Order: sequence, then C-alpha cells, then structure tokens
Amino acid sequence: CGIVGILGGEPAAGRLVDSLKRLEYRGYDSAGVATLIEGQIVRRRAAGKLRNLETALEQAPLEGVTGIGHTRWATHGAPTVNNAHPHQAGKVALVHNGIIENYLELREEISASGAILDTETDTEVVAHLINTGLADGLSPQDAVANVLPRLKGAFALAMMFAGQNDLLIGARKGSPLAVGHGTGEMYLGSDAIALSPFTDRITYLEEGDWVVMTRTSHQVFDKDNKPVSRPEAKSTVNA
Ligand code: GLU
Repeated sequence: CGIVGILGGEPAAGRLVDSLKRLEYRGYDSAGVATLIEGQIVRRRAAGKLRNLETALEQAPLEGVTGIGHTRWATHGAPTVNNAHPHQAGKVALVHNGIIENYLELREEISASGAILDTETDTEVVAHLINTGLADGLSPQDAVANVLPRLKGAFALAMMFAGQNDLLIGARKGSPLAVGHGTGEMYLGSDAIALSPFTDRITYLEEGDWVVMTRTSHQVFDKDNKPVSRPEAKSTVNA
C-alpha cells in the first residue's frame, strides 16, 4: 500500500527498499521493485515481508539508477509473487495503489486485442493500455494522457519506460502521491515519509494531477491536461 520512484545518480534498488520500509506502517502483503538495466525493465518481487524481497535482491542483485517500488495490499488477486507489483507490459512497468473499478471491461478489451493478461490484478490492465499506446507510436507522455481518463476508481501510479532512463511519470486520483526534489535527482512517493531518506523538499500532487519528471525537471498537469504549478513545501518528517 505504498509507492516509491527514483530518478537517481546511484543504484536504486537498495534505496527503493529503504523507502518501502518507511511505508511498512501502512500494511502490506507483498512487495517488489523494478529498475532499468541498459534500458531494459528488470523486476524482483516477493510475497510476504520486505525481508523476502531483500533476500531476492541478495540472491539476484539489481543494478540501475532509475526504479520504482511497491508494497501491496491486495484487493484483486491473491498476494502471490506473480500478482505483486511492479506490473509490466512490453515497454512499461508500473506500481499502483488503489482500485481500478472498471478493470473487468478493460481486461476484455485487452484480451480481445490478442494480448495475454498474466496476473489476477486490476492493475495489470493499466500497463497493457499504456503499452498499446507506445506500440502505436505515442510518446510515453501521450500514451499516459490517453489512458488516465479511461480509469475509473482510485489510483496512485508510478510508471517507468524501457529505454527511458531519465523519465518517470506519476498520477493520482483518490490516492495520495508526492514529488520529491533532490540535487540532480527526483523522486515519487506515497507521502513525505517515503521520501524522507532522500529529501525534505516535497510537492504534493492535487486530485487528478499527473506529473512528468526527469532528473532536472518536472511538469505537473491537471485532470484536463493543462500544465499547472504546485507549490514546494518543506517536510518536517525525520529520516
Ligand atoms: N488493487 C491493486 C492490487 O490489488 C493495488 C493494491 C494496493 O493498493 O496495494 O494489486
């Protein structure tokens, strides 16, 4: 039930787990991380405690300075490794908190187009819809902009893209999400506590906002895709 994303200058996997530990207080049943290694999305996921994810990372370490992480509180699909986030479809990987209420009709649409859904989650449809946009030649930003209005329910999302080492996209509706500002680094997190190991400079997204981030820039859009500016605040959470 927590989200983190890092556009960093040093290996991301250990930092992602460190952040997920701060989010343990929200409760979870499984966890996972994904990073980009030579432009490819690579994931490690585990059912149960974060310790299990750490063991998976010890057995098969993950390089990469760009990554996303998740603690899951299962709503749709059992708390198995295969249902753990991040979910991947082709060139996109994403983590999600919340519920996609219209996932059944979206699953049918995706299956009818010939794609294989290989989890029981509501979340996986989001990855497939975005990947379809990418396959149609859309930029990551346009692919996300097209899909967000189709999602009913509540979500905080962090998305990363194969071949795009300097890009993270976040979105929120009904679940919180914050941008963290570093020095030559940027972060996404469920709250300031998740970001406390990295920064105390936080921009809270407002309802319906989404954000396109690089290591040196971020642009927030509102629910009508209008560029907007949200204030930066200083968090008082201690790391
Ligand atoms: N509904 C999603 C799932 O069950 C996300 C749950 C969560 O917020 O952690 O996988």
